[in-house]
Amino acid sequence: MTMPGAEGIRLSNRLDEESVMEKTSESTASRPQFLSTVATVAAAAGAGYLVYRNGESWLRSLLLYLSRAGWARQVVTKFPPAWAVASRFVAGESVDEAIQAVRQLNARGMLATADYLGESVTSAAEANAARDQILYLVERIHAGGVDANVSLKLSQLGLKLDENLAIDNLRAILQQAKRHNLRVRVDMEESALVDTTLDIYRRLRFGEGFDNVGVVIQSCLYRSDEDVRRLVEEGAWVRLVKGAYKEPHTVAYPAKADTDAAFVRQTEMMLSDEARTRGVYLAVATHDDAMIDATQRFARLHEIPPDAYEFQLLYGIRRDRQEQLVAQGHRVRIYVPYGTAWYPYFMRRLAERPANLWFFVSNFFRA
Ligand SMILES: Cc1cc2nc3c(=O)[nH]c(=O)nc-3n(C[C@H](O)[C@H](O)[C@H](O)COP(=O)(O)OP(=O)(O)OC[C@H]3O[C@@H](n4cnc5c(N)ncnc54)[C@H](O)[C@@H]3O)c2cc1C
Repeated sequence: MTMPGAEGIRLSNRLDEESVMEKTSESTASRPQFLSTVATVAAAAGAGYLVYRNGESWLRSLLLYLSRAGWARQVVTKFPPAWAVASRFVAGESVDEAIQAVRQLNARGMLATADYLGESVTSAAEANAARDQILYLVERIHAGGVDANVSLKLSQLGLKLDENLAIDNLRAILQQAKRHNLRVRVDMEESALVDTTLDIYRRLRFGEGFDNVGVVIQSCLYRSDEDVRRLVEEGAWVRLVKGAYKEPHTVAYPAKADTDAAFVRQTEMMLSDEARTRGVYLAVATHDDAMIDATQRFARLHEIPPDAYEFQLLYGIRRDRQEQLVAQGHRVRIYVPYGTAWYPYFMRRLAERPANLWFFVSNFFRA
């Protein structure tokens, strides 16, 4: 089996903070290189602090803006210490590391969904290269005998360039995955792509009969109750998340409490007798104890067996909770991202939890 494209060779796969700090202090960043950016980092930290004082949602907005800024990607990714911190959330840069991480999760009683990182490609060649990497991932999952599905983004397959290109690429991946009895989850991106993403999902699911494709719903969007209603009628395979993108208040709840309430409401809609009878299989994807507890309460109350749904969490986040859920007899799937295009994914994780940002900045200064 040949491997398309260059693969990284990073070996470390440890997840805990201590190991990240250890790796950071072993960093090979040269002093001049480090000093040339201290000012930038200090400015960012200072700005972050000011914004933080003015409210966490400002800080989240700043980080989500930076996740899309090319100049910020240049600054952050050229430093080995940045990777040392990012590797807390990313399994590695190569498919070998991803498969190794999945194997370790499987050994701890967890399932996985592997994600070759990448989004918003700017040429058809890049989109096709991403498709080939994902096809290779499918082969490696099958050949390695590990228990994992695949997650991907349509913008990674060319959606913003040409819808048909993305459809062709997704179709090729679904065909290959079906041969090996693997499922493919289409991640949900910013709100402007939700209609197209659901249309493409339906075209391949019903128009072309691929029963191994699933979608994601973001509870932060006003439209999601309606989307969930329709997906319940269709008996869909759905991952429910709160939503990781910066959205205007015209389309998304400004208050976290409303997003949380919608998450609980939509979980209950998709765990209802009607939904399960129609074939809905729900993945409750969150690290939030309140959401997890609400799901467990509802399942207990309605005597829903633990194998009728699953919890999903991100690699490296709340490992304590991941293990506790397994110990409680739940089906737990970990989202395992890998690849060299880790910057936007990493920034979204920082935006979700300010404590991660301070950890990141302090590691720069330890370099
Ligand atoms: C498996 C999976 C797949 C996802 N797929 C998508 C997708 O396709 N599209 C999309 O828009 N979003 C996706 N997301 C991200 C999601 O939308 C949220 O941004 C993210 O999960 C944070 O929300 P939360 O539910 O964990 O709750 P929050 O309210 O954000 O957090 C609750 C608590 O969880 C912990 N926590 C949350 N995030 C972090 C973190 N980064 N680091 C450390 N602790 C943390 C903290 O203790 C926090 O207090 C996915 C999330 C998961 C788990």
